[in-house]
Amino acid sequence: MIKLSKSCLSESEKENVLKVLDKEYLGMGIEVQNFENALSDFFQSTAVCVVNGTCAIQLALNACGITIGDEVIVPSLTYVASFQAISSTGAKPVPCDINETDCNIDIEMLESLINSRTKAIMPVHYSGDPCNLTAIYIIAEKYNLRVIEDAAHAFGSFYDGKKIGSFGDIVCFSFDGIKNITSGEGGCVVTNDKKIIDFIKDARLLGVEKDTENRFIGKRTWIFDVIKQGWRYHMSDIMAAIGIAQLARFPALSSKRKILAKKYDQLLVDNKFITIFKRNYNNIVPHIYVVLLPENANREYIQNILLKQNIQSGIHYFPNHLLSLYKKNIVKTPLITEKLFPRLLTLPLHPDLSEVDVEKIVSELLNIFNINTSWKVPH
Ligand SMILES: *Cc1c(COP(=O)(O)O)cnc(C)c1O
Repeated sequence: MIKLSKSCLSESEKENVLKVLDKEYLGMGIEVQNFENALSDFFQSTAVCVVNGTCAIQLALNACGITIGDEVIVPSLTYVASFQAISSTGAKPVPCDINETDCNIDIEMLESLINSRTKAIMPVHYSGDPCNLTAIYIIAEKYNLRVIEDAAHAFGSFYDGKKIGSFGDIVCFSFDGIKNITSGEGGCVVTNDKKIIDFIKDARLLGVEKDTENRFIGKRTWIFDVIKQGWRYHMSDIMAAIGIAQLARFPALSSKRKILAKKYDQLLVDNKFITIFKRNYNNIVPHIYVVLLPENANREYIQNILLKQNIQSGIHYFPNHLLSLYKKNIVKTPLITEKLFPRLLTLPLHPDLSEVDVEKIVSELLNIFNINTSWKVPH
């Protein structure tokens, strides 16, 4: 079976985990500190680790004081994690449309959605391709808004010659099992804003003040004060041990993702059935490889045929403004998101695939269109 995505692990992750197990201390300690230091080096900014990407986003919002009555503008075409993180704070996720060309947030509509309740913009770097951050930061400055980048797909990507996370306001990453690097589950918040970092360091440990510092030197805080709501969101040393090994392997992991995406592009460019998104994989580390099917394509049929050939495929994502919880939030309709959604198809992409696998996937996909017309939606 050719998997859509998977964790790609080597001996070094296993060795690192065994070393932690041998220490018989599995909680948050020196490994988390080492991982945070390595990430801070990588981003040339400060990284603080948490138990997943969703709570990284939630804590970033909390740290900005975003709460009930506030609005956060977010593209509808994203993982439901972005929306749930916003609504968990009591704020309202306001769905914004995307560009047809790259599936990233539509800047014009974004600005039109801003009102007195708007507190933040949450761009999502879809597939790893950065949004128009120049325009987003100009708008944020103009209306005095925070920017919380959902960079779950974009670990290692560059925008305008700069690494995502190395600049900007607050940038959140995910290290779940299939992301560009993994720590099992896990995530981090990256920012130069010391107030945000200090808030999150306490908030991830139930609001216990300065407990992070003590745990990093093998101590606990017994007598403490709590002045704000916190959560049990810290990362464990086992997770950090996996993350450290993955970060060391990132040059190889990322270049493999780029090579495979370029291979897909090369095989599919100018195809009469499949439309590719034009992305520059010299600057992007792709998390997913998404194509557009013909307008009248029966996606379910196509996915089933691929599966019969032992090829998994995916759909990223069901538009969030059509979910029961969020459909009342829609401001403008219909969106390009809805027009594009039925045509989106995600093809397998992970570092353990080979270029020969990509050739097989593309040839099986194109076969479906060449053999007969049952790939069309029946009239
Ligand atoms: C993976 C992902 C997240 C959340 O990350 P978890 O670590 O799974 O909680 C958020 N946003 C997007 C777009 C993602 O793909």
